[in-house]
Amino acid sequence: MLDVDGVPTLEDIGKNMPRRERLEQGFVAVHECFQDIPCNPCVEACPVGAVSMKTLTSTPVIDFDKCTGCGNCVASCPGLAIFLLSLKANHAQITIPYEMPDVPQKGDKVQGLDRYGQFVCDADVIRVVRLPSLDKSSKTTLITLEIPASELMTVRSFRRR
Ligand code: SF4
Ligand code: SF4
Repeated sequence: MLDVDGVPTLEDIGKNMPRRERLEQGFVAVHECFQDIPCNPCVEACPVGAVSMKTLTSTPVIDFDKCTGCGNCVASCPGLAIFLLSLKANHAQITIPYEMPDVPQKGDKVQGLDRYGQFVCDADVIRVVRLPSLDKSSKTTLITLEIPASELMTVRSFRRR
């Protein structure tokens, strides 16, 4: 619960979620950024103007119909608070920023974890890319996992097996 342990509930997150039809069209950015802090790299990083804020300390708003799922905002967010999601008939995909040195490779099997770091399900690494991070002098690794469709709202990190 946000005001108790800083972890958002599904009710908190649901307010920021795209409709199912958009998720089925392909990757779309979803944020779990709930604090009114002065931060806006996600706005600056978006090439199509899909992220906006009323003021520098507002939380971001993503226009899901404008978003192309490029991942620039995910790589630029210092709070690791943005993900890409997509939904297919039987499985979902999530793209997660990853800052640990032991980078998994495409084809690896990993364990999907929830927002508390608890095991949820096995997951397959289906894509590994590096995109420019906040200061543009370095890159952030983005890992895309394939998970059961039922865990779309649950898995938000992973660990190596
Ligand atoms: S994924 Fe790309 S297009 Fe979508 S909000 Fe982020 S930066 Fe913009
Ligand atoms: S860059 Fe990340 S932490 Fe900063 S406002 Fe955007 S989503 Fe929130």
